[in-house]
Amino acid sequence: MQPQNSTQRKEQRIPGSIGAFTAFGIPIRFHFTFLLIVAFLVVIGFQDRPSAADDVVFIVALFASVLLHEIGHALVARYFKVRTIEIVMFPIGGVSRLEKTPPPHQEFWIACAGPLVNFIIAGGLLGGIALTNPKMVGLATLTNPTDANLIERIAYGNLILAVFNLLPAFPMDGGRILRSVLAIWKPVEEATQIASSSGRALAIALGLYGLLSQQFLVMFIAFFVYLGAAQEGQAATGRSLTHGMPVRLAMITKYHTVSHGDTVGDAAQLMLQTSQQDFPVMHGGNVIGLLDRNALLRAIANEGSDAYVAGVTDHDPVRLSPDTDLDEAMTVLGESGNPCALVMDGEELVGLLTRENLSEFVLLRKIGLPPPRPK
Ligand code: ZN
Repeated sequence: MQPQNSTQRKEQRIPGSIGAFTAFGIPIRFHFTFLLIVAFLVVIGFQDRPSAADDVVFIVALFASVLLHEIGHALVARYFKVRTIEIVMFPIGGVSRLEKTPPPHQEFWIACAGPLVNFIIAGGLLGGIALTNPKMVGLATLTNPTDANLIERIAYGNLILAVFNLLPAFPMDGGRILRSVLAIWKPVEEATQIASSSGRALAIALGLYGLLSQQFLVMFIAFFVYLGAAQEGQAATGRSLTHGMPVRLAMITKYHTVSHGDTVGDAAQLMLQTSQQDFPVMHGGNVIGLLDRNALLRAIANEGSDAYVAGVTDHDPVRLSPDTDLDEAMTVLGESGNPCALVMDGEELVGLLTRENLSEFVLLRKIGLPPPRPK
């Protein structure tokens, strides 16, 4: 087993997901709500009717298809050297978390790959059935399940998955395809807003349909489509306001440091007296690490206020160059799970970048403050 490096150790996961296994080197996790599906399967499986076992196979096969769909995205992303942090399976579908948003021409192919997998599964199964048993029932198999048409049902299920995912609206793959095509002649941010608005419109239409036809599941899906579309829109706004700007424009330049020989009690006093939560740890004139609020509180609770700062210092915090693009800094900080990064010009500490002051920077830009001029 390879030891994990510290950035992997601190990498943020979707909360509430349970680690399960790795496929093609990609961690695959299940959200805890997935247990609902397992319970649902058990209930169905024990029902005393002829095709109960088939229904269980059908649902498991569809989830396997969704997983293959996500792996399709991840493998094409890897082809473009974009790492997939994890695939998380939710009861209503899967999510591949990529380390960054790829440029439009790559995003186009990554987005297409998922639905393509479902088309291939559907095509393969239907082709196989057509060769061995020319009596095909068609889409009616879905509303009229029998033991005999299980494979055909799985095939049409995949067809529906592919078509639903191709709807040109965020957060579906079709929304990403739409954005990447629009980005040929529009700025990416504008293309994102269009795909996000069409996602919200679709969600509202879907929700209304679910309400009028009293289909709870449809309303449930509409709710998640709305959330996903709104989130993408917001993230795009954040990116458009930070894109092309270096870290030095947003970093904190007035901050306090602690010495490795100070006690955590001294550091706690400093935390009280200032509004600072994370402190660079100095040894002489050199920065040797970072003391963050959580480590500080933990140390006081476990070891008392006389413990030395040196013992609880994170010696491998996120380090950023002042010239790094803020856009990229946001991603690095977000993935590290750390609240704060040291901004280093070579060996010299020149500032701090925290998530909090990053969001303040975005907020100020949003209400119209022009970016500060570097001195
Ligand atoms: Zn997809």
